[in-house]
Amino acid sequence: MVEAAPIVSAQIIDGKAVARQIESEVAAAVERLGFAPGLVAVRVGNDPASEVYVRNKAKKAQELGLRGRELALPESTSEADLLAEVGRLNRDDSVDGILVQLPLPKQISAQKVIDAIAPAKDVDGFHPFNVGLLHLGRPALAPCTPAGVMRLIDSTGIRIEGANAVVIGRSDIVGKPMAALLLQRHATVTICHSRTRDLAAVIHQGDIVVAAVGKPLLVTAGMVKPGAVVIDVGMNRVDASFTDRLAHDSDKSRLLAKNGSVLVGDVDYARVRDVAGWITPVPGGVGPMTIAMLMQNTVTAAERRRA
Ligand code: NAP
Repeated sequence: MVEAAPIVSAQIIDGKAVARQIESEVAAAVERLGFAPGLVAVRVGNDPASEVYVRNKAKKAQELGLRGRELALPESTSEADLLAEVGRLNRDDSVDGILVQLPLPKQISAQKVIDAIAPAKDVDGFHPFNVGLLHLGRPALAPCTPAGVMRLIDSTGIRIEGANAVVIGRSDIVGKPMAALLLQRHATVTICHSRTRDLAAVIHQGDIVVAAVGKPLLVTAGMVKPGAVVIDVGMNRVDASFTDRLAHDSDKSRLLAKNGSVLVGDVDYARVRDVAGWITPVPGGVGPMTIAMLMQNTVTAAERRRA
């Protein structure tokens, strides 16, 4: 009798562990610098998610020896007032990194505000100057989430050079910079979006697949090339009944949040795990990397401004 071949599960990429590693590198770099780089996280209004994000960024900065602080402005802040505040932070020599938490209230143009941040202090990497450098393949402050994804891919030890990389999503904050970073490392990059024809066939070419869409279960097991590295950037909060569509009981209990809602990515994790070579979970994959890379960008900005 011929025994069925065992299903070999993908290796799980532990984003929390990689983020901890980066944080310890940042803390060591701060010690070497001999001064505490300054990071200011600006928040306008009372969006509850933004409050949490900004607080966590300032807290993490302090934990690692940076001078992190939050600048909270009222919902009614005018565009002119916010631009003036950004101008003050640009001129303040004790400030190395400035980030303005998005979204902004409707009276303020996010584009104008991002354009006003001094490129040397633009630790989110969203200023057109830094976007331009990134696409030219020159050293730049790269957006934190895609930069974090590169670290996760590197943690697998696979060779990026020459690999087929498929990026699903073409936003300015994830998809496009992701593709630019992979191209810098000599991957053959394909960018997919909502008009891509036969998405499954394109994904199947990928030795590396990065999903950054915002649609649960978009990437299914049949689409993935056996052994591929699958990175799930998606963060989708769905109803608890969604867990009925997951494959394993352990996943259901892992994901069930206290308030009954569930956080899932864009990848059908439980099934893709049986095909991929490496995979990031949600939560615990890309999520923890974003703040860690922000801290690293702040140290880089501080080093470069004083070089
Ligand atoms: P976004 O601006 O909404 O962009 C989504 C992209 O997906 C667009 O380019 C869109 O194409 C494409 N798309 C939509 N439906 C598609 C489909 N059926 N097939 C292929 N492509 C499709 O989103 P984002 O800001 O890049 O974020 C993407 C996801 O990542 C979200 O879930 C977000 O919450 C998450 N995220 C996570 C982190 C983290 O730290 N983990 C950070 C940032 C974002 P078009 O351009 O044609 O419309």
